[in-house]
Amino acid sequence: MEINVAKLLVGNWKMNGVSTALGEASLIAAAAKSAQSQAIQLAICPPATLLARLSETTAGTGLLTGAQDCHPKAFGAHTGDISAAMVKDAGGHFVIVGHSERRADHGESSALVQSKAQAALEAGLVPIICVGETGAERKAGQAESIVLAQVQGSIPETFSDGALVIAYEPVWAIGTGLVPSAGDVLAMHEAIHRSLVDRFGAKGASIQLLYGGSVNGQNARDLLHLAHVDGALVGGASLTADGFLKILHAIQE
Ligand code: PEP
Repeated sequence: MEINVAKLLVGNWKMNGVSTALGEASLIAAAAKSAQSQAIQLAICPPATLLARLSETTAGTGLLTGAQDCHPKAFGAHTGDISAAMVKDAGGHFVIVGHSERRADHGESSALVQSKAQAALEAGLVPIICVGETGAERKAGQAESIVLAQVQGSIPETFSDGALVIAYEPVWAIGTGLVPSAGDVLAMHEAIHRSLVDRFGAKGASIQLLYGGSVNGQNARDLLHLAHVDGALVGGASLTADGFLKILHAIQE
């Protein structure tokens, strides 16, 4: 599967939302077609419990859906896990892998994230591979080296044009209201882009790069107009249609 749009806005609902949240998704879906006419693709990654219902509720609207994680194996004795094929079967288009909360809470290494991304590709999903430095790593001047090592370690060896998305999410900016300066976001996205082109050539340049970390209706326009920022991965502000659509409207202006 490929994703090839000017801007990609993905909502990550994390462990938030029960049946009543489907109403918010429907309100977001109502804006998806007009967004597509401006080459802006909207997507929501709800908790796994809502994925099938959300995909059914919003089918045909232009809103895409996805999961927040998948197991590297296709099936088997892995209690509590879901496979990429199950995400696909539930109507998902994307799967987020290597989110910093999973790297921290579940000790996920880049090698494991790479195997999850590979499984996603094999199931016909678009993996959104998350990378990002902690506040301490940035203070120590290690942000770029940490992020580039995560990028190189988390990407599958083989993929086709437009089949992968990377989200740069500084850990210290997630859910805190703190956002790096435009210059720091630009520098990191340029460094990631360069490293992908060095390793994969034109295919590397086809990987879409999202920024994530406290994106909202106020800061979206400045962040999403930077070079090599192809969209956003949005947590808190995606939980309501109002919050998510403010971001859409900010970049439509
Ligand atoms: C995220 O967790 O992917 C995220 C970007 O969260 P927030 O927008 O709430 O910072």
